[in-house]
Amino acid sequence: MEPYPHPIDADDFRVFPRGLDGKARSRHHAEYAGWHRNACWNGRRFDRFPEYIVRAQSLADVAHSIDFARRHGLSVSVRGRGHSYAGCFLRDTGLLLDLSALDRIEVDASANAVAVEPGASARRLSQALAPHGLAFPTGHGGDVGLGGFLLGGGLGINARAWGGMSAFNLRAIDLIGADGRLLHADTERNADLFWAARGGGPGLFFAVVKFYLDCRPLPACITGGTWRARPERLGELLEAVERADPDPSLQVMIAVAADGDGLQAILSTTAFADSPARAQALHRALASRLPPGLAEPLDQDQPTDFETIYAQTEAMLVSRRYRTDNVLTDRGADAAQILIAHLPKRPSPATMPLLIWRGEPRLPDAAFCARGRWFVSTYAQWDAERDDDANRRWLKALYDELAGIASGAYINEFDLEERSDQIERCFAPAQWARLCELRRRYDPDGVFHDARIGHGHGHG
Ligand SMILES: Cc1cc2nc3c(=O)[nH]c(=O)nc-3n(C[C@H](O)[C@H](O)[C@H](O)COP(=O)(O)OP(=O)(O)OC[C@H]3O[C@@H](n4cnc5c(N)ncnc54)[C@H](O)[C@@H]3O)c2cc1C
Repeated sequence: MEPYPHPIDADDFRVFPRGLDGKARSRHHAEYAGWHRNACWNGRRFDRFPEYIVRAQSLADVAHSIDFARRHGLSVSVRGRGHSYAGCFLRDTGLLLDLSALDRIEVDASANAVAVEPGASARRLSQALAPHGLAFPTGHGGDVGLGGFLLGGGLGINARAWGGMSAFNLRAIDLIGADGRLLHADTERNADLFWAARGGGPGLFFAVVKFYLDCRPLPACITGGTWRARPERLGELLEAVERADPDPSLQVMIAVAADGDGLQAILSTTAFADSPARAQALHRALASRLPPGLAEPLDQDQPTDFETIYAQTEAMLVSRRYRTDNVLTDRGADAAQILIAHLPKRPSPATMPLLIWRGEPRLPDAAFCARGRWFVSTYAQWDAERDDDANRRWLKALYDELAGIASGAYINEFDLEERSDQIERCFAPAQWARLCELRRRYDPDGVFHDARIGHGHGHG
């Protein structure tokens, strides 16, 4: 590695794109503004402007871009499909390496395995696997990129039955590191890098160009059920779910949503089973353990599938501007009390908390280590830029209080705009120390940006 980066001049940048299969644009190029505007999944714009954006078309482009950035002292940020709520791949200065065009999916049905490039979406992966009778615990939004999702850990569909976190279904990865070299990493080879890739989150010190995943048998029968409860009984509902100890193949989520001028708690359960009878039994086992009168049944045993789950998630995100934060906690009833105290003051009625029952997954040794039986995330959403600050302050106040009962936080839905200086809350101390040490070892010159995006505010 060269010890001193050369300052960039116009000639360097004229030569660099000629070596690419894809395209590159500097801040001075007429197309840059459009590329920047389209970088975020929902068109939200941020006041963070990389010097260059490279749309890679090949592995050679990834290596060439990293080499170019290293030689000129430009820090690299990586984009998958741009679903980071905080737009964390947009940084001031440096080179944004957009991998969204690397989206090939190669199914090896005989080995129950699939190799996926980072720009592939959840929906396309499920569509590729289904004809082979296979499935993968993708995220709940169909367009979410596999890259960022897996590197943060990935809280996927049917997570409890399928490995706890989706990253634990990784067999191996191919990556390009700060020195521009292509490496294969698994539990044996380059094991440190594989350890970091399973949950290290955004801002890692390498670009993953391929994920090798273990698949699961596609359940023959997936059914959903919904119940409604009064908001003041949210805590009781959480305690009842916890006491019922649902089977891992029953996904349990509780949303707190607007109901006219008030609120309602909506419990939804999804059974992943090999027969309708088994699916029904999974729902009934929970229903029979809810105290009478606590929750009113709405729909029961509704056939569903991955596509319906994606569409339902997408339908919940109705606004133009978003912010999200979360905690993991063992204190469900306390979390409920805090949520119910804050929610009436939320600036936007579309804002919605979601609580997911995780139980106590047994996690292998990896960067992902956040624990807590309940995942308590809130999706703040609104439309007008003038409401940004009110929503930011409301979400911050809510999660400052929830932090007091947290046992962890999930990096992929952590409010990186507000809490870049608190990222270590998403890791146990030993995992955080190891991540920092690996970054120093594998990227001593800081070729890759880390995840601390600071306090810049987006504008729409
Ligand atoms: C509508 C919606 C639904 C969601 N649902 C879920 C869900 O059900 N479960 C869940 O866990 N999360 C969910 N998320 C959060 C999601 O996991 C993260 O936003 C994730 O970062 C998205 O992946 P991406 O590739 O689009 O990320 P991007 O926004 O493109 O990238 C985010 C960061 O990830 C890193 N990164 C991405 N790809 C690579 C790579 N190949 N190599 C190195 N670093 C890389 C980079 O640091 C990058 O800055 C959801 C988000 C949205 C917007």
